Amino acid sequence: MAHTPEILLGQDELSAVVERLGRELSERHDDGVVMIAVLRGSVPFLADLVRVMTIRTSVDFVALSPYTPGTGRVRLVMDVATNIEGKHVVIVEDIVDTGLTSAFLIGELQRRNPASVSLCTLVDRPARRVVPVPIDHTGVQIEDRFVIGYGLDHEGRYRNLQVLAIADPTVLAEDPDAYVEALYGA
Ligand code: 5GP
Repeated sequence: MAHTPEILLGQDELSAVVERLGRELSERHDDGVVMIAVLRGSVPFLADLVRVMTIRTSVDFVALSPYTPGTGRVRLVMDVATNIEGKHVVIVEDIVDTGLTSAFLIGELQRRNPASVSLCTLVDRPARRVVPVPIDHTGVQIEDRFVIGYGLDHEGRYRNLQVLAIADPTVLAEDPDAYVEALYGA
């Protein structure tokens, strides 16, 4: 059955949020930064963010295995290629939810003696936070709702949407394609 999601941020609103964050980062780090994006959800956000920044930036990527209660920890599956020692680093996240991913990555990068590590997230959802995470730059803060689009997926779907939408996890559990018709057209 087709369902229509609520649009949380449309294209223009997303652009405005990204532009503000780009300005904040450019003002704070006028001597250049290494932007480290967490694969794969933060790729569209990173791509738009670096293009509105007005300072020298390089980009790099990490892949992390999500925290699973069984293993009890997040693991680094793919590391950055950049030597970050002495550099200002900005972690770029799609969403900070439990905080486990970001807390792990901050700790991992800090051990390499960068000049600084800060965290920039498009979405902050504090309702389910398990570990406290210092967020330096926040796009939007949301209630305890599941979001898709603009990088955020459900089973690999919806990442390439130009909007951020609120989806019902029970609807998605029943039919992962439930929002395809409404969001992509029939
Ligand atoms: P954490 O719980 O460690 O803060 O977040 C881990 C990851 O879970 C996020 O980077 C994101 O990929 C995924 N995630 C958390 N909340 C949502 C959500 O509302 N929607 C989607 N699509 N992914 C989410």
